[in-house]
Amino acid sequence: MDIISRAEWGARPPRSRSTVPWSSRTGVMGHYSGASATQTPRQIQDFHMDVRDWSDVGYNFLINSINGAIYEGRGWTVIGAHCANHNTPNVGICIIGLDKVGRQDVSDAARRSFRWLYEEANRRAGRRLAILGHRDRGATACPGDEIYSWLKAGLPIVGSTPAAPKPPTGRPAPGTPITFPLPAGWYFGPASGPDYSVSGLHERYFKGRTDRAWIQEWATQLGRRGWSIGKGRTWLRQHGNDGIYGPEYRSLIEAFQKDQGLAHDGLLGVNTWNAAYRNPVR
Ligand SMILES: [Zn+2]
Repeated sequence: MDIISRAEWGARPPRSRSTVPWSSRTGVMGHYSGASATQTPRQIQDFHMDVRDWSDVGYNFLINSINGAIYEGRGWTVIGAHCANHNTPNVGICIIGLDKVGRQDVSDAARRSFRWLYEEANRRAGRRLAILGHRDRGATACPGDEIYSWLKAGLPIVGSTPAAPKPPTGRPAPGTPITFPLPAGWYFGPASGPDYSVSGLHERYFKGRTDRAWIQEWATQLGRRGWSIGKGRTWLRQHGNDGIYGPEYRSLIEAFQKDQGLAHDGLLGVNTWNAAYRNPVR
C-alpha cells in the first residue's frame, strides 16, 4: 500500500520534531478529525500549526475516510500531538471525517488502510501493539462510536475483499539469503536520523561486520537480481556501492520498494532487506 508523502501533499516543514525509538511505542491510537471528510491534510496541518500553535500536524498518519488514501503526518517515529501525555507511546492515526450517527461513513478502503498501518507498525516494532481509541486516554468523544467499536473489535474487515496479491512468479531469488543484521525496528538510513538509523558513515559493527559492508552486501544482492548498480551504471552512478547511505542509496532503495510493492520510504529495513533475498525475480 502507498503512503502519500509529505512532499506529495505539500506539507509545510515542521517547526521542530523529536523522535521516539520503537522500543518505547506500545500502541496505535485511532482518531477522527470530526469535520468534513473532504478536508485535506494540509488544511488540518494549517489548523494545528496556526490555530493550535503546534510544531506540525498532530497525527503520525491521516487516512481519507472515503477512498482510503494514506497521508504521512509526522511519520512512524516522530512524537505526535494527538493525545496529551500519551504521544510518546502511541502512533496516532486520524481518519479524516465526521462520525455520523446511524450510518457508516468510514469506507472499507479506509478501514483496510488503517489496518495496514497497524500491521506495518507491528512489523516495525517487532511485536504486537495495543489498539486504542483517543477516548481510552482522554476525555473526548473521539474517534466516534463507529470507529471506536471497530477498533475495540480488533479491526475486522467486512464487505468486499480486496484483490488477492498476485502469487509471486519468476525465477527464485539468486544468492544465499542473509538475515537482516540490525536489531528489530532499526534500519539503514541517513546519518542525520536517530541512533537506530544506521548510515555506514561511522562504521558501526553489527553481527561481526561494519554497517558499510552490510549496505554493500544488500546492494550487491540487487545486482545479482539484475539491477544495474555501481559507478557509471544506472544506480549508485556517482559514488558506486560504497556502503555510505546517501541520496543515491535512497533512490535505489525506494525504486526497489516500489518494484516490490512495499511501503516506499527509501529506508532499508527488515522487509526491504528480506525482499531482495526471498522474493522471486520477475
Ligand atoms: Zn482524537
